[in-house]
Amino acid sequence: MNTEQTVVVLCPYCAQSFEVLVDCSIGDQELIEDCEVCNRPVTMAITVSDDGSVSVATKSEDV
Ligand SMILES: [Zn+2]
Repeated sequence: MNTEQTVVVLCPYCAQSFEVLVDCSIGDQELIEDCEVCNRPVTMAITVSDDGSVSVATKSEDV
């Protein structure tokens, strides 16, 4: 079973999408990744379902 999945994240600042590699084996997690386009830190709340599907909710740092 492949525990790493690439998810597409929409940047809350510049609205560009970029890809993030998620390690599903550690379950729900929060990641902060710099946007590839505008280089601002994007906080991602990652939820891993029992069936292995991954969903990501993004939020900006300065709200
Ligand atoms: Zn951006």
